[in-house]
Amino acid sequence: MLMTFFREEHELFRKSVLNFVEREIRPHVEEWERAQSFPREIFRRCGELGFLGAHYPEEVGGSGGDWWYAAAWGEALTHGRCAGVAMALMVQTDMATPVIAELGTREQKEEFLAPALRGEKIAALGISEPGCGSDVASLRTTARRVEGDYVINGAKCWITNGTRADFITLAVRTGPEGSGFGGISLVTFPTDVKGFRVTRKIAKIGNHASDTAELSFEDCRIPVRYLLGEENRGFYYIMQNFQGERLIAAVSAVAGAQLALDETIRYTQERTAFGRPILKFQVWRHTFAQLATEIEAARWLTYRAVDLYNRKQDATREITMAKLFAGELACKVADRCLQAHGGFGYAEEFPISRYYRDVRLITIGGGTSEIMKEILSKRMGWG
Ligand SMILES: Cc1cc2nc3c(=O)[nH]c(=O)nc-3n(C[C@H](O)[C@H](O)[C@H](O)COP(=O)(O)OP(=O)(O)OC[C@H]3O[C@@H](n4cnc5c(N)ncnc54)[C@H](O)[C@@H]3O)c2cc1C
Repeated sequence: MLMTFFREEHELFRKSVLNFVEREIRPHVEEWERAQSFPREIFRRCGELGFLGAHYPEEVGGSGGDWWYAAAWGEALTHGRCAGVAMALMVQTDMATPVIAELGTREQKEEFLAPALRGEKIAALGISEPGCGSDVASLRTTARRVEGDYVINGAKCWITNGTRADFITLAVRTGPEGSGFGGISLVTFPTDVKGFRVTRKIAKIGNHASDTAELSFEDCRIPVRYLLGEENRGFYYIMQNFQGERLIAAVSAVAGAQLALDETIRYTQERTAFGRPILKFQVWRHTFAQLATEIEAARWLTYRAVDLYNRKQDATREITMAKLFAGELACKVADRCLQAHGGFGYAEEFPISRYYRDVRLITIGGGTSEIMKEILSKRMGWG
């Protein structure tokens, strides 16, 4: 659907992502879900086709496009009907790398960002730990300065792309124990460093094609020049970085919900019971009318957030609302759409069953719905 915010060049970009998704992702989804992985080659292809750097400045290897390219990318990826692949790619474009473009030195951009945008290096974002996710300020992985190096010890959990990442944009504690949010820093961490280990690949209920890992760091030495921005300012950078992550999550939540609803409407037009199509029962027509209305509302809230973010305005309130609203809505859409499929909704062979499993992550990853409400209440002055 051509929206006023998207110009012709965004639509051309969207079309080329959709073509790629239809030809090179969709036919392999079942196999990749079963294998619980997808080929590294997909990252390289996306880099080659100019998808990964579309909204990055030309000087860091991107194409210089605005954030509407990211929105078109997030929307088009949902057409693969495989949230695992989409999530892995969005970690590469909108979660692990924006902070390097923003704060990295020329050397960090050359060593990490540029190859990530070419799809030659896989990126991960390492913030959550076995003992903390929502409460980022309590993270415990330490980085001690020793003779021009950081020596890193600790563990990370839930890290998307974690089993095969070439580098991690990693949150560490550089301040003393108990330093809270004021003692956190971000570093670029190459995973070929001695002492780094993938402890385990986590088995999940959905997003099977994407790998999620627990990682351990034992006396891992990296040079201090891998620090991103200023030492002990990491918490602010993480909160800033969350904005793009939550926004792309909201964008894909809306697009995925629309797709699920459209497919369900088609299904219920064809499937009959008691001598008529399921869609002809008022209860379903009304359910779909309600969901279509809520999806439209979520879309415009999300586009409003994209517009503010794109114009470098403070968009925290709108992004937080969009992530909360679109995420919760997507789960509701999945539930109703699966129900409208009856028994076939419960069968692996129908994309709705995978959508139902995959979408459940959306109110958890990148900050839970409860945390979104906490942020909003604080911003409204009630917290
Ligand atoms: C598949 C998957 C992929 C992920 N990928 C990444 C990744 O690539 N990188 C990364 O760093 N992390 C990643 N995460 C981690 C994710 O960001 C965290 O799971 C999330 O932030 C929640 O943290 P937690 O799991 O520790 O839950 P907890 O913080 O333990 O929360 C448990 C429950 O308590 C609620 N809660 C917590 N605090 C409050 C509060 N103040 N008020 C009310 N309720 C509260 C939460 O909302 C939640 O319902 C991923 C997670 C999953 C499942």
